[in-house]
Amino acid sequence: MKKNLVAVLAVVALITGVAMFLQQRQQVEAEMVRRPGKLRVVSTNSILDDMVKQVGGDKVEAYSIVKRGTDPHEYEPQPTDITATADADVVFYNGLQLETGGNGWFKKLVKSSKKTFNEDVFAASQGVSVRYLTTNRHEPDPHAWLDLANGQQYVATISQVLEQKDPANAAFYRRNAEAYQSKLQKLHQSSQAKFAKLPEAQRLLVTSEGAFKYFAAAYQIQAAYIWEVNTESQGTPEQMQAVIKKIRQANVKNLFVETSVSPKSMQKLSQETELPIKATLYTDSLGAAGSTGATYYQMMRWNLTQIYNGLAAS
Ligand SMILES: [Zn+2]
Repeated sequence: MKKNLVAVLAVVALITGVAMFLQQRQQVEAEMVRRPGKLRVVSTNSILDDMVKQVGGDKVEAYSIVKRGTDPHEYEPQPTDITATADADVVFYNGLQLETGGNGWFKKLVKSSKKTFNEDVFAASQGVSVRYLTTNRHEPDPHAWLDLANGQQYVATISQVLEQKDPANAAFYRRNAEAYQSKLQKLHQSSQAKFAKLPEAQRLLVTSEGAFKYFAAAYQIQAAYIWEVNTESQGTPEQMQAVIKKIRQANVKNLFVETSVSPKSMQKLSQETELPIKATLYTDSLGAAGSTGATYYQMMRWNLTQIYNGLAAS
């Protein structure tokens, strides 16, 4: 009788043990679902992607839709872009009608990946004061990031969204954002001081696309271009004549071309005006890893240095 009791107790203990083990395993699994690990952040271009990495560090998994060296105005999303966007916790785009080429490629991508604007899709440019196109005053000029003060505003927006989406790491994001913003601010102020000393007549910057409106206002220069925005036809005879007229009226020593456009029109302008192309600038995209424009900070430092040297040349 006593032996039987021991056997029954042993079986009960065994069943209880197995039940407890199963319950614990279920709890662990439930927690893993609640804590999926890194925040998945998709950006439309390499510049935003870099800002996300500077703020998010190892707490985010960042993905750039438009790759380095490629034009973000016009783009055809690839199957991997659609998967990444659908799986993302947060999606950043520039806004100000940057991503509107090809009949609105980004809007279509948001729709097909079942995301919602202002819920999981955010414009990094929100809060900047908008400048408008000269040829169409109702359309915003998208290139706000080429003013480092606006770049700091982008970083603030990115940080706020990451803090909200991942409150456990909010302090980490804020700390990174503040350190990064102060680095950008130092370059901004020292550049403004440098450009302020340029002779007035030498302050005309000539590029292919008119991407430098915000830059020109921030660093007190004038910007001339062949075409105003990459979504329009590029290098028509009328556009060439207009820019040549502007160049002849000013004291221009050098021309510039951008990495994310075809250099053909600028080469033609260089032949016609007999002015050299001084340097290649980064406007709508970062340069390759290890290049002079590998990060947003580096591309801005490169642009500011090259443009200053080109304009200051006697
Ligand atoms: Zn552009």
